[in-house]
Amino acid sequence: MSHPVINADDCVACGACADACPMEVIEVEDVATVANPDACVGCGACQDACPAGAITEIAED
Ligand code: SF4
Ligand code: SF4
Repeated sequence: MSHPVINADDCVACGACADACPMEVIEVEDVATVANPDACVGCGACQDACPAGAITEIAED
């Protein structure tokens, strides 16, 4: 399985990644977190949507 890796220092909590994700993997409160990594399909939409470059990779477990 794959899942996004989020750099919390770069995240501005805009919510774009959570909005872009078709699988509701990411939750954003004060910072984006990978709340549901098992649901990730590795599509990369969250990475493409992030304006801050905070999603650095789609990691494989
Ligand atoms: S890679 Fe796709 S499925 Fe996985 S967290 Fe990002 S947007 Fe969601
Ligand atoms: S799109 Fe990027 S900056 Fe916005 S909440 Fe997600 S990780 Fe943070």
